[in-house]
Amino acid sequence: MLSLTGNELSQKIFEFSNDGILILSIDENRIIEVNPAVTKMLGFSREDLLSMNISNIQPRGVDLIKKYTEQVITNRAEWTNELTFKTKSDKLILVEVSASIITIDNQNYLISMVRDIGCRKQIEEQLRLFSFTDGLTGIANRRKLDEYMDIEWRRAIRYELPISVIMIDIDYFKPYNDTYGHLQGDICLKAVASIIQKSLIRPGDLCARYGGEEFIVLLSDTDEKGSLHIANKINCNLANEKIKHCKSDINTFVTVSMGLASIVPTSKNTSSQLISKADQALYQAKREGRNKIIRFLEDENYCPNKSATSSL
Ligand code: GH3
Ligand code: MG
Ligand code: MG
Repeated sequence: MLSLTGNELSQKIFEFSNDGILILSIDENRIIEVNPAVTKMLGFSREDLLSMNISNIQPRGVDLIKKYTEQVITNRAEWTNELTFKTKSDKLILVEVSASIITIDNQNYLISMVRDIGCRKQIEEQLRLFSFTDGLTGIANRRKLDEYMDIEWRRAIRYELPISVIMIDIDYFKPYNDTYGHLQGDICLKAVASIIQKSLIRPGDLCARYGGEEFIVLLSDTDEKGSLHIANKINCNLANEKIKHCKSDINTFVTVSMGLASIVPTSKNTSSQLISKADQALYQAKREGRNKIIRFLEDENYCPNKSATSSL
């Protein structure tokens, strides 16, 4: 084995490190030495690896080593990067490589610490998904809505596309909780979330929990007519579900009120203005007796024009 520093501590670290340690000749890009963690990670024996060139495990390896070695030598620092390595079974694994130059017997080598971060990436992705999901209903949360709205809003401006929002609020939900208990209230919320979700067909449509018993649907590339169609569908699906509500003043089953707003945005508009309009329309639906779909009418300031009202 190549003598690193001649001291026993280095040998132990080399042998027992959970991170791979890979030593490469800079000129020939040959693998000079590996520790057991590298053989375990890549599935090759030490002998196999010592007969290999870096490009056998990293297709762009030669170029990368050239590039990074220059950087390390110029900046006298180490570099850290995420790369993919190919294992013996041709599987690609994601690794974090931190490399630096060492000089042994007047010869420069590139010493790389290699860590398999595939697992970490998976966990990071799971956490990311988690942070965008509402814990109770499993649908998107407000953070996801904000992020998605931002993307879709800019796209709508760029391509002059319509965008619509539906604000949905469960009617008489406080009496529902008071009558059936909080646990049953949670079950009802989950059911309503799933009904809204299943009423959306396009992959670009998003349903998010906006607050306690409020939901928001974001429909990109959808005009007022399209959003009214979806709102009616949600109402129809909810009515079919027949969730009992004996303390609702207007129905024997759970109902919702909805506020709709649509726009072809320009850079002068903001997405929060659109949401606020949908909210105003929702408020109007509540004032008009609930279990209604009201569209926000720009000129008439959400006037209760019956042609714009879908009473159920
Ligand atoms: P309206 O018809 O005007 O919408 O009346 P409402 O009773 O639905 O509205 P209000 O805002 O008075 O009450 C909302 C209720 O929603 C109160 C609260 O207990 C309930 N709520 C909010 N979040 C949750 C939740 O996560 N689980 C349950 N079970 N209930 C919730
Ligand atoms: Mg509410
Ligand atoms: Mg409510």
